[in-house]
Order: sequence, then structure tokens, then C-alpha cells
Amino acid sequence: MVFIHDTEQNLRAASYLVNTLPGSDDDDTLTTLEDFDAYLRVNPYTGLIRRDQAELDGVRAVRPRLRQLWEVDRDGAVPLVNEMLRDGHALPRLVIHDAFDWHIHATSDDAPLATRILVEAAMAFVDVIRADEYDRVRVCAADDCDGVYVDYSKNGSKRYCDTGNCGNRMNVNAYRRRKARETA
Ligand SMILES: [Zn+2]
Ligand SMILES: [Zn+2]
Repeated sequence: MVFIHDTEQNLRAASYLVNTLPGSDDDDTLTTLEDFDAYLRVNPYTGLIRRDQAELDGVRAVRPRLRQLWEVDRDGAVPLVNEMLRDGHALPRLVIHDAFDWHIHATSDDAPLATRILVEAAMAFVDVIRADEYDRVRVCAADDCDGVYVDYSKNGSKRYCDTGNCGNRMNVNAYRRRKARETA
């Protein structure tokens, strides 16, 4: 395991949100309350969740800030992460609940969901920075995709995001190019 469980979970939640942003050739996929429910199903949160339009708007609004974390290197991430912790009034404490072992919450359970998401992402990136694993924070290598991911593989060799079918698609493209060259 590269990162401990809750760090990985928070990184997955952040990646999920960033990947809902409209890209070069895809639409925003976090616009409706149904989209929001789908996000919350995959990334469950404890504490207060309203599932209303105002909460959805708040969550949508933190996405560009999270996206920035994929556009910087390790040193560049530090001020962004510190700013998120400050804006979210992060105050770390150890908690234990449900099926989880001791882990950190850094906001109160009734803070707005968008604030909790921002601070949890920031806390996860604190771990990535401290472990000096920032080169695992990557944008998909497919030439037609700007999806983001964090590479949790042991040897750090993951090149494509999980949102599309990017790995397979690129293999098929490469195969077609090879074929085209052979028959040219
Ligand atoms: Zn928790
Ligand atoms: Zn991709």
C-alpha cells in the first residue's frame, strides 16, 4: 500500500470530483442532484449531508481548486494545500467511527460538505507531499483525455486514468496506426 486507507480514499474522492469538470471534449458530469447522489454513493461522508442544490453548488465550486493540485509539482502544491487548510479552518483530531480504524478528521462534522471535501483533500495531499510521492499525482497520458488520477500501483507505472477506457483505447489506436503503416 502506497498511502494509508483514508488518504487513498480522499485522493479518490478528489480525483472523482476533478474528473466531473468539463474537459476538452466532454461535458460537466456533476450538474444534477442525481449526479451528486452518484458521487456520494461512491464517496460516502459521515456528518451532515443535505443533498440539496446549495450543497451541490458548493461542491461544484471547489472543483477548480482541486484541479490545480494536478497542475503543479510538489513544491507548487504546498501553498495551495496550506491555503485550503487555512480557508477550511482545519483543526486535526483523531476519531474512530463505523468500520474505520483511528484516522484524522480536520473539520467539524457539521461544516459545509464542500469545506470538508476541500480539507480532506488537503490532508490527503499533505501525506502525498510528506511521503515525497507527488509524481504519482498525474494527468492521463491518453492524447484525447485530460482525466486525472493518483497512481497507487507498487511500481508507479500507471499511465491512464480510470474514467474512460483510456488504456485500451490507446492500445487500439497504436495497433491501428501500426496496421495503417504496414498496409501503406
Ligand atoms: Zn471518518
Ligand atoms: Zn484518460
